Order: sequence, then structure tokens, then C-alpha cells
Amino acid sequence: MELIKDGIRIDGRKKDELREIKIKAGVLKRADGSAYVEWGMNKVYAAVYGPRELYPRFLRRYDKAILQCRYNMASFSVEERKRPGPDRRSVEISKVTRSALEPVVLTENFPESVINVNIEIVQAEAGTRCAGITAASVALADAGIPMRDLLPACAAGKVGGEIVLDLCKEEDNFGESDLPIAMVPRTGGITLLQMDGLMTEEEIEEALNLAKKGCKIIYEKQKEALKQKYRGNNND
Ligand code: UDP
Repeated sequence: MELIKDGIRIDGRKKDELREIKIKAGVLKRADGSAYVEWGMNKVYAAVYGPRELYPRFLRRYDKAILQCRYNMASFSVEERKRPGPDRRSVEISKVTRSALEPVVLTENFPESVINVNIEIVQAEAGTRCAGITAASVALADAGIPMRDLLPACAAGKVGGEIVLDLCKEEDNFGESDLPIAMVPRTGGITLLQMDGLMTEEEIEEALNLAKKGCKIIYEKQKEALKQKYRGNNND
């Protein structure tokens, strides 16, 4: 399969172009904070509950709140029906999501508490961990939980010998490498860095820089989504 021809990718994008992204804050009435992200064909909800007292007590931390993150893929979200419930992949993504978000949340303000972050993937088409983290940080902010910054996440990788931004499904399946990151925009700090496939050191650096550029664009959309909600015109 030819994934890239004359600098144009299989879905018509340029190498440094993101898929279309829409972010909306405050979409779920019963959660303390929520967000919805449409990213290409991905459709993702994040719902935040808390901070609230943590039970069982032995899990409590005297110095900070704990973050509990759950990434879940609906069985109808993928081409081949997914068996409902947790699997190795969702346990892994829940864990990396927690460790990506923890540095940006002021957990020290809420000792002995828990903050729940639920991520539901209702449609998946590559890049769902990044979409989930992007949605979760908007939902945390929407819940009024103090944060050092929002946390945009985005992948770059190698496809058909070229370094490209934000891999689509075909590129993820048949490309050489995928490198998702989450970045704290104010400091440039990275809280998620994963990679599969093969790239040279130079290519990794190029992909990392490209993914950071993607994160900056997504950051603007996250801020805009929160502003939209608090301006009160969230109804489109
Ligand atoms: N996928 C799937 N069935 C599964 C898990 C994943 O079809 O049980 C697809 C889905 O489109 C997902 C993509 O494979 O977005 C890539 O999955 P990966 O584990 O690389 O995570 P992601 O890129 O979604 O963060």
C-alpha cells in the first residue's frame, strides 16, 4: 500500500497536518466536569468526578489526592466488535493516562481524596490515547480542579519513509512507527512518551518536534472549548 505520494498522505493530508479536531467542554450534566473530543473519526468522552473522600481508607494519601483513571473502549467503537470490559491494552492506557495527568493536577490541594477520570471511546480510528488525554484535561478543568496547565496530547510517526503528524488508521496499521506524546505547553515538559516500530535517533527527534507542534495547536482548541462554555454559547 502506498501511504504517501508527492508529500500527500492516504487521507489527503500534508505531512504536518492534523486531522480535524473539535473539542467541547461541559457536555455531561451528571459529571462534575466533562468534555467531548472528535478527532478525525475518533469520538471520545471524558467525565470527571471529585475530588471526594476516598474509600477504602487504606488507599488514602495523607499528602495528596489520588487520580483514578479508566480508559474504556465501547464494544461498538471498533471495526471488529471488542469484548466488553477491561483488557491488557485498556489497563495500560489507563495507567499511562494517570501518570500523564498527575503532574498537571494540583493533587496536593486535596489530601485523602480521589479524583475519578473516566474516558469512554465510542468510536476509534487510531490515536485514541491522545484523544482521551486531551479530553480528560479539559474535563478536569471543567470540573474546576486546579491545574498547572492543560495537557494536549498528539502523536507523530514514520509512514512511507517520511515523518508525519497524527497518524490515521491505515498509517498506524501499515506505517513504520508511531510516537504519541502529552506535553505541558507552559513548560514544554513531556508527561507521556511512547513509541512502537522503528526510527533512527534523528527521526525520533524530528517526530518529537512535530508532535510538540501538534500539541500546541490542540492546546489552543482546548482553551477555546473552555472559553466557549463559560461564555455560555455551547449549544451548537
Ligand atoms: N483498535 C481496534 N481494536 C482494539 C484496539 C484497538 O480496532 O481492540 C484500533 C483502534 O482504532 C485504535 C487503533 O487500533 O485507535 C490503534 O490502537 P493503539 O493501541 O495504537 O492505541 P491508540 O492509537 O488508539 O492510542
